[in-house]
Amino acid sequence: MRPSDSFQAAATASAVHPAATDLSLSPWVVIWELTQACALACRHCRASAQASRHPAELSTEEGRRLLDDIAALQPAVLVLTGGDPLVRPDLFELAQHAVGLGLDVALTPSGTPNLNAAAIGRIQDAGINRIAISLDGASAASHDRFRGVEGSFAITLAAAREAARRGLPVQVNTTANQGNIAEMPAIRDLLDELGIAMWSVFFVVPVGRAATRDMLNAEQSEELFDFLYATGARGKYLVRTTEAPHYRRYLRQRQAESHRDSPAFRWSRRAAPRGIGDGAGLVFVSHTGEVFPSGFLPLSAGNVRRQPLGQIYRESPMFCAIRDRDRLGGKCGICEFRKICGGSRARAYAMTGDYLAEDPVCAYQPRGLAVQ
Ligand code: SF4
Repeated sequence: MRPSDSFQAAATASAVHPAATDLSLSPWVVIWELTQACALACRHCRASAQASRHPAELSTEEGRRLLDDIAALQPAVLVLTGGDPLVRPDLFELAQHAVGLGLDVALTPSGTPNLNAAAIGRIQDAGINRIAISLDGASAASHDRFRGVEGSFAITLAAAREAARRGLPVQVNTTANQGNIAEMPAIRDLLDELGIAMWSVFFVVPVGRAATRDMLNAEQSEELFDFLYATGARGKYLVRTTEAPHYRRYLRQRQAESHRDSPAFRWSRRAAPRGIGDGAGLVFVSHTGEVFPSGFLPLSAGNVRRQPLGQIYRESPMFCAIRDRDRLGGKCGICEFRKICGGSRARAYAMTGDYLAEDPVCAYQPRGLAVQ
């Protein structure tokens, strides 16, 4: 199996997935934050991660019940995240339970000494299908400055190489921000050598330790889309964005310009095949069981200790409002791309207090004609 096959399998599973017909019934991606504990001190951390585990974290038993609930929803992907999920001693027990339920499990470990060759072996042995690791600079100086801990860069590269050696697909997450935007070509060059399966570029949402000054503006975002499009077109690994759904609008525009399915468009669709976004195909469960539309939109719609996850996802007024793109405000509400994009609900909330407001960092001026 090629490194990217596992990602492509998840991305093209729509023929059997219940969300293939209706994302209001079942999420495509469930993200469970097992803990907020982490040894890193990243400048943009949405979770404002702490050194110690929170005493009210979901217990092992609660976690097993949550996984049973998640399996009933049949998401395409379950992401176990943190903080640093490797901090939890029951991580592999929980992961094996999830795999036993038939879930396709990904893990996002932090670049700390916990992420050594033995840990990568255990991750693979537990049946976890891929890992996502963060790389925010092309050098130790820039990455470690961003992550707040010396040595993280070397650990991250060693982990990526060890995973590639074992045939465990690797996704690299990069948070594009004012401090590293000029470094993106160098980061791409580095990724080219690592044999990764996917590059996911995160656009800053000012929550947790991230600040508005870290964000790219609308023009910078469009320039970065140009760069990502060209990167994806090479077909070396999948390229996608996180908290930048307007990249889908950009791809649609590029497709319309070329009047054909370009290689970049086909590759990007494989990485993000549907109009999935915060609360619409994506649901986040916090370390204490709170259910958010995403980790970047920490507004609780309920708690899995009191209600099944599926009920919260389907019935919460907030989730229902977010999924109804006709209720969006500002230019997102009249945009002809709102069904495939809809803007970042997390960024709208972080910057205006209204999760239905327009995404403040989109350069597009809608024609105001609804797409049927
Ligand atoms: S205006 Fe809103 S819906 Fe339209 S492309 Fe921009 S972010 Fe997306």
